[in-house]
Amino acid sequence: MQGKITPLSELRPMNTLYNVHVRVSRTWEYRGKSEKNPLIHFDMVVIDQKGYAMYYEVPPQVVDQFKQYFQEGKVLYICNACVERAKPGYRVVDGPYILKLIMRTQIFEGNSNDTNFPKYVFSLTPIEMLPQYARRTDRFLDVIGKIIAISNAAVVRNTSGDLMMRRLITLQDHKGNTIDLSLSGQRALEFDAEAVFHIGQNHHVIAIFVGTLMKIYREDYKFLSGTSACRWYINENDIPAMRTFQRGLPSQVTPIKKLELQSEDYMEQGVEEKTLFDLKQIDPLTDKNKRFQCTVTLISIPEKEQWCYRACRVCNSRMIPGDDGYQCTKIDGCSCKQYDWKYKVCFRGADDTHSLEFMFFEKKGVELIGKSAKTLRKQHDPSSIPPEISQWISHKFIFIVKVLFKRSVRNMDPSFEVVMIKQRHGKQATLPNIIQSVSNDDLPPLVTISSKQKTDQQSLSYTPQFTDIQDMDVDQQSDAWDTTENHSKSQINDNDDKKHEEQKRKKLKIEG
Ligand SMILES: [Zn+2]
Repeated sequence: MQGKITPLSELRPMNTLYNVHVRVSRTWEYRGKSEKNPLIHFDMVVIDQKGYAMYYEVPPQVVDQFKQYFQEGKVLYICNACVERAKPGYRVVDGPYILKLIMRTQIFEGNSNDTNFPKYVFSLTPIEMLPQYARRTDRFLDVIGKIIAISNAAVVRNTSGDLMMRRLITLQDHKGNTIDLSLSGQRALEFDAEAVFHIGQNHHVIAIFVGTLMKIYREDYKFLSGTSACRWYINENDIPAMRTFQRGLPSQVTPIKKLELQSEDYMEQGVEEKTLFDLKQIDPLTDKNKRFQCTVTLISIPEKEQWCYRACRVCNSRMIPGDDGYQCTKIDGCSCKQYDWKYKVCFRGADDTHSLEFMFFEKKGVELIGKSAKTLRKQHDPSSIPPEISQWISHKFIFIVKVLFKRSVRNMDPSFEVVMIKQRHGKQATLPNIIQSVSNDDLPPLVTISSKQKTDQQSLSYTPQFTDIQDMDVDQQSDAWDTTENHSKSQINDNDDKKHEEQKRKKLKIEG
């Protein structure tokens, strides 16, 4: 090892290479959105003797060559290190420059027991200040808190539809402010929850989590997200900040609670895959608790179907205008007068066998559309479909659905609620080619005619007279629905069934 050692604080992105003497504080692999992706770069935070920290990026092609040195805690001499300007986002440590490993870089191992090198680097943000960092990606956040609850590691689906591990941890500060932290992927498994829970029954467990981001779920749930860049230090006696935190805690210990996080794969267990023609045959009563998987292209939005409704803040039931303001329509009574706008987005979806109605309620609506009904309602009337919703027409999905009992029993075809968006296949150039009329006995007028000419239905549907007959009969049918409409108002899942009929009629016209 030759040449002058430069302190990290003096490095500049000039046409020169530097020699540095540092400890590896933490390392992680960056693979983008999914841990299954190929390595994009290997990342480290290094600290010098003066406690100055820097981010160090290693290109994937040289990782294997140097892997033996890239271990947390090791002290290294890095020769011919290249300095670059830091990118504006996702800064792990505050500072304008970063180190980058280049082909000419050489690494030698130093004395890892040298106590002059700090082990940890963090810049703590108080829990009460965290919400203001929501959705910001300029820098990673470091946080200290007492662990008050931890969950099991569960398999859940992320926004891109991949299954991944997730574990929740609740942190609390001295003032009682709390924040949930969600560890995902490998980090969820690496966290030793059993040990923390066990010790946490009789002792305080203080943790520092570094490299987290503040995120928002469903507009109002703010939480810290810990992915591969996240690391943690638990009850480390050599971290002064932890000792200081400990001094502020009461002597009496409140045991750590267990949180139950449900795995989504449980939901997929026993799920039958069905075509829409098969789904049409299900019995809304006996199959009301079953879940089904289907592949569906969204083809239309029933006309005049409202995309949102006034949902009771207490029970989610529909609110209707009453004598003094709005009142909840829950059958067995609910005195709540306040409501929020929530989704009840209705799509017609199809595969090559049939078309059926699919409803998105608030949670899945937010997942599909990316914002809450409350937000969308500020710009759009409930009766005009926002482009944020209509843009999903002609997109293909794999859904897990369950039947909407109340809405289905009054209809010819059952309606389904989307309980999970399992896969997104994107926008389709062509819509499904539904063989609608063949062996399709759900429309009363068709049954009437087919009793005479069963085999000719397909060809008949292309003759003008047939369309006229259809229209007439469906009109009568619509009247029938009008009379039942008042009843359907009483439940959230029961929307204007007339619209369904109108949609059917519209469709028939198009086909005719
Ligand atoms: Zn209510």
